[in-house]
Amino acid sequence: MTAKPKHTYPVVIVGGGMAGASLSLALTRQGIACAVFEAFATDMPSQPSFDDRTVALSASSLNILRNLGVSDDFMSVAEPIEQIHVSEQGHIGFTRLNAKDQGMQQLGAVVENWQLGKVLHKNIKQQELIDWFAPTKVLKLEQQSDKAQLTVETADGESKVEASLVVLADGARSPLRKSLYIDSRTRDFGTSAIVCNVATQQPHHGCAYERFTADGPLAMLPLTQNRMALVWSKPNDEVENYLALSEQDFAAALERDFGARLGRITKVGKRAAFPLIQQQAETLFRGRCVLVGNAAQSLHPIAGQGFNLGLRDVAYLSQCLGGLEGDDYGAYQVLRNYEHKRHADRNKTVWMTESLARLFSNAWSPMSVSRNLMLKALDITPIAKDLFAQQAMGFNFENSELAANDE
Ligand SMILES: Cc1cc2nc3c(=O)[nH]c(=O)nc-3n(C[C@H](O)[C@H](O)[C@H](O)COP(=O)(O)OP(=O)(O)OC[C@H]3O[C@@H](n4cnc5c(N)ncnc54)[C@H](O)[C@@H]3O)c2cc1C
Repeated sequence: MTAKPKHTYPVVIVGGGMAGASLSLALTRQGIACAVFEAFATDMPSQPSFDDRTVALSASSLNILRNLGVSDDFMSVAEPIEQIHVSEQGHIGFTRLNAKDQGMQQLGAVVENWQLGKVLHKNIKQQELIDWFAPTKVLKLEQQSDKAQLTVETADGESKVEASLVVLADGARSPLRKSLYIDSRTRDFGTSAIVCNVATQQPHHGCAYERFTADGPLAMLPLTQNRMALVWSKPNDEVENYLALSEQDFAAALERDFGARLGRITKVGKRAAFPLIQQQAETLFRGRCVLVGNAAQSLHPIAGQGFNLGLRDVAYLSQCLGGLEGDDYGAYQVLRNYEHKRHADRNKTVWMTESLARLFSNAWSPMSVSRNLMLKALDITPIAKDLFAQQAMGFNFENSELAANDE
């Protein structure tokens, strides 16, 4: 951690969560120096990005992490996803995707956010091009035609920092995005995700389960040490009750919704809940400030696409900046190019996630019948299954250089 910020940086990243930390590493790969300002100290339990949640990373995200140079550390703490099983409670239709059928060793991997944070921070510490400040909060952002100026609050008090480009990676709420008058389209699903890790009687064999229940989707993702990470959608007004249940009653309720695929739920870890709100900023830049990760869009976790999409923002932005002849990283054409390159993937992923969330959170019976037919059709139609698998692996879009498999 650097003690005091310099007066000027080529690039400043606000927010050292999953997107900001990944971007700082991607920029060093292009030889670009940056400062990262993160409001929470790295090892604080309250660090909001690197908490106890888990993240399912697609095969294309694994390529990006490999190209950022963190793959060896990462794979030792992540569990590969070898198959995905999709089903609906109360119906017999289901579909199963296998890595082998797609000619892959794994469809993706699951890791605890705090473990991913440890891996990223270990690599960031080794980079001279990254000045990392935490805890340091950015209070204010002002723009001029040739630079942006930030007011930052460190332990020593306030100071001013200038940059050619400011990247907002400060999460979905992003008050700084609002201070730039960038509107976002918001959809509140009226539900929350209950998350915790559980142990089951039978081993998971690298299978990720997505199950649709009357209250909404339930995901059980394979974790290391034969644990499963639960993401269970429930209406907001029921969430407190589920959090307050005894371990035994919670396990019994989960068995009712998930079924007996993995036998009994034998252990339930610490529970937490996250309200499910989808947001998409109307534009990705204003002046010399650009958005990545949740600051640009936050998604319903139904398809596990939020950070995967954010990591693709990171890959494209670093590619746009790395290809420059000069060093005016915040120039209009550069940021316009980034926005243009992100347009299709972003709109498609947001649309797909929102449609899935609507389709699979509706208990109306004709909808339930069509869902079930859809799952059956998906299971017996190879082309549809391949397209579904490509989207799940994050390959159904124009690849950035960082997502390319160089092996
Ligand atoms: C229940 C749940 C399950 C999920 N599962 C998946 C999954 O399986 N796969 C997937 O791809 N995605 C998943 N996601 C989405 C994923 O968690 C997010 O996309 C990811 O956390 C976004 O990272 P970020 O760095 O953009 O934002 P954040 O994680 O919100 O980080 C923002 C950072 O900015 C800092 N910050 C904020 N303001 C300031 C300031 N003014 N100054 C300095 N620092 C500041 C914050 O302290 C924080 O560290 C899930 C989300 C939820 C809620």
